[in-house]
Amino acid sequence: MSTLNNGPEAAPSAPSENAGPSNFIRDIILDDLKTNKYGGRVHTRFPPEPNGYLHIGHAKSININFGFAREFNGKCNLRFDDTNPCKEETEYVESIIEDVRWLGGDWEGRLFYASDYFQQLYEWAVQMIKDGKAYICDLTADELREQRGTLTEPGTESPYRNRTVEENLDLFERMKAGEFPDGARTLRAKIDMAAKNLNLRDPIMYRILHADHHRTGDKWCIYPMYDYAHGQCDSIEGITHSICTLEFEDHRPLYDWYVEAIGIYHPQQIEFDRLSITYTLLSKRRLLQLVQEKHVTGWDDPRMPTISGIRRRGYTPEGLKNFCGRIGVSKTNGITELSLLEYSIREDLNKSALRVMGVLRPLKVVIDNYPEGQVEQMEAVNNPEDASAGTRTVPFSKVLYIEQEDFREDPPKQYFRLSPGREVRLRYGYFIKCVSVVKDGAGNVVEVHCTYDPATRGGNAPDGRKVKATIHWVSAEHAIDAEVRLYDNLFLKENPGDVPEGKTFLDNLNPNSLEVITAKLEPSLKGAPVLSRYQFERMGYFCVDKESTPDKLVFNRTVTLRDTWAKIEKKSK
Ligand code: ATP
Ligand code: MG
Repeated sequence: MSTLNNGPEAAPSAPSENAGPSNFIRDIILDDLKTNKYGGRVHTRFPPEPNGYLHIGHAKSININFGFAREFNGKCNLRFDDTNPCKEETEYVESIIEDVRWLGGDWEGRLFYASDYFQQLYEWAVQMIKDGKAYICDLTADELREQRGTLTEPGTESPYRNRTVEENLDLFERMKAGEFPDGARTLRAKIDMAAKNLNLRDPIMYRILHADHHRTGDKWCIYPMYDYAHGQCDSIEGITHSICTLEFEDHRPLYDWYVEAIGIYHPQQIEFDRLSITYTLLSKRRLLQLVQEKHVTGWDDPRMPTISGIRRRGYTPEGLKNFCGRIGVSKTNGITELSLLEYSIREDLNKSALRVMGVLRPLKVVIDNYPEGQVEQMEAVNNPEDASAGTRTVPFSKVLYIEQEDFREDPPKQYFRLSPGREVRLRYGYFIKCVSVVKDGAGNVVEVHCTYDPATRGGNAPDGRKVKATIHWVSAEHAIDAEVRLYDNLFLKENPGDVPEGKTFLDNLNPNSLEVITAKLEPSLKGAPVLSRYQFERMGYFCVDKESTPDKLVFNRTVTLRDTWAKIEKKSK
């Protein structure tokens, strides 16, 4: 887990009810407010590239950027960094908008695109040419790479570096007019081929790409590089704190150089650690590969770490927010336990999810002394964490289903659930005692016969006798069938991207990440709406899948009740 960076406390004007945990970014913002660096403004942005669906890593960035805006009465823009026409699609734009909104990000109408600024970026490039700060280079991509040098050796100056302003202006104009094929020429910033930071060795500003853009169509056949566009987009929007992940630290001097060369407002970039989670891959490129090669059913497969995947699985925005609060921000990349994420989700669902009874692997129980044809409505609590959730009734009858694992013919020592001669409590029902079993030809128990004690209605014995186990059940006659999808980690290894030579991350896929079963659920779940979340008592949290219909319920298991994080914490104490 990444550690929280607790800087010195300083709190001038921060409204405290929204105050997040102390961290180094927050300290910078507080300091800037104190010194009035941006006239008291806090203006952040979340800048996704629309080349894939958002994942949990993005949720961290969204929580940081929109969170600070909320905390300091500032603003946060949503901006699509759509400088690469080849990989970007409207489908991604739409999904990203939906996901950011679902996570609680409010851009208050400030939805922008880097492509909105193509004209302005072009004009600044012309200005840089006129100022002798950019030139047209005819080297091929391979030649450029060769001449770039290494960390220990300086690069080589391009033979085109000293073209006249007039020639540069003419060539740039003709590049824009479509006179040259892809890759024939580039516009490069004239900085320093011997710079220690490779990003400053005359980086490319514009490349020729005869490709349609999802928003500007065929208007342009030259496109700005991300590095040339990013800082200026922030500048145009008056961003105060441009918060991004650590891999952009080496690019900051270049962003600074551009805004200074052009002479425009200078935002401040702050880098934080990228989220990585065990048993999970957070890389759009690899997630795309999983989708394209059909290792999963789509971007919103509930096993995917995408926002659309975990939403479908039943994760909550509040749970994710709590998770982000727990991991904090830091200046070094680390890896976070998946169990901490699951703990945060479970904790939120525990507060909000309605309890129901559902039997995942049914075993038939017949109560021999219960009157044939009798049905009783037993009162059950909807949420012990929330009295306002009220109660409901669950039908009880002679034939029930219980969980197969709640019966053992030969119970081991520590097993206290149902077994021959043993009495247990049926939740919200009665005490029952096993009197005999029926087996199939192979010797498997297929039916358990019990007697019940009518005096124990509701689950308590008037004579004060105790039972050691309470198990859940459904009435066979009233139960509804549901398809339940049980998920396990998509990858078998803690760090699935770490593979030996000749292998790929696909070799670490868990072949058993999905198990589909037919469960028996209490009848109150009939017609449960898509995305509604429940706790199946003793079994975990479950969410109604989008493929569910009134005739056929489909549930996803969000998370089990097994709390491995609490165990890890206990061990480390
Ligand atoms: P990927 O590596 O998955 O392709 P990306 O960085 O290319 O991600 P962008 O769309 O450029 O994706 O990201 C938008 C914002 O989200 C950026 O500011 C980026 O720093 C941030 N971000 C992306 N991945 C993570 C992560 N794992 N943890 C925290 N922030 C992230
Ligand atoms: Mg990126």
